[in-house]
Amino acid sequence: MSGRLQHKSALITGAGSGIGLESSILFAQEGSNVLLVDVNLAAAEKTAAIIAQKYPNVKAVAVKADVGKEDEVKSAVDAAVNAFGRLDVIFNNAGIMHPADDNALNTEEKIWDLTMQINVKGVWWGSKYAILAMRNNPTDEAKGLHTGGSIINTASFVASMGAATPQLAYTASKGAVLSMSRELAMVHAREGIRVNTISPGPLKTPLLMDFLNTPEKRDRRLVHLPMGRFGEAVEVAKAALFLATDESSYMTGGDLKVDGGLTSSY
Ligand code: NAD
Repeated sequence: MSGRLQHKSALITGAGSGIGLESSILFAQEGSNVLLVDVNLAAAEKTAAIIAQKYPNVKAVAVKADVGKEDEVKSAVDAAVNAFGRLDVIFNNAGIMHPADDNALNTEEKIWDLTMQINVKGVWWGSKYAILAMRNNPTDEAKGLHTGGSIINTASFVASMGAATPQLAYTASKGAVLSMSRELAMVHAREGIRVNTISPGPLKTPLLMDFLNTPEKRDRRLVHLPMGRFGEAVEVAKAALFLATDESSYMTGGDLKVDGGLTSSY
């Protein structure tokens, strides 16, 4: 542990699996207290248990919340402030992808609405309540603590590219995350709140593996990947850690592509 987030507090959504799980462990390793949010409480508790065992000096608190419900997002942010006294980082990472072909002709309105509710409104509400909390962060210059903070939102490579395997609502939702985050960054830059996105490429996590559920579908996606492999969740978590720390202090409104070269390839 090198203490890159020492004395700080972070809230991570989707903390029970994939990117959220790996980020929670990395943030804790760097000294941050972590509020672990997931709709699947048992999964978040498992993450908390891993952290308690590996990094007993930080607090790891698991909370059940559906980011698609505003009152639950607000309660989760309140829980972080109550438990840790401040909120320096929110990683709005939870997201869903309907695990079936979802094109303009066959997608259902209820799938579209649910995807937007969780992937877009969840990021809006997480950002909203985090901004309110970050404005009130106590300062302690000796410990490097100040008002403001870092908001990190998970977009996707499909925010910038068309996917040949249709996932229309998901793609639209991630485009919204990207553009919403840019505007949040502009509006809150002068109060020391940085907002950046991460656009992961295809990863070996349950979200994508449930979608590409045959060897043929996986091989088809692999053809487009310059590195010839799916990414690991921890490779995205390392980018989230950079955006969470002051090492990225002059970065806001940015998008970190962690995609094995996918969005640069033809
Ligand atoms: P994952 O399935 O491994 O983990 C997602 C976690 O989010 C799960 O623990 C799940 O319980 C939780 N979750 C789902 N809905 C929730 C809700 N409404 N409220 C709270 N928690 C909820 O997925 P992952 O691959 O780690 O995905 C994380 C993020 O990365 C998502 O936003 C996803 O869209 C994005 N992403 C993933 C990939 C990929 O290839 N896996 C690529 C680009 C972007």
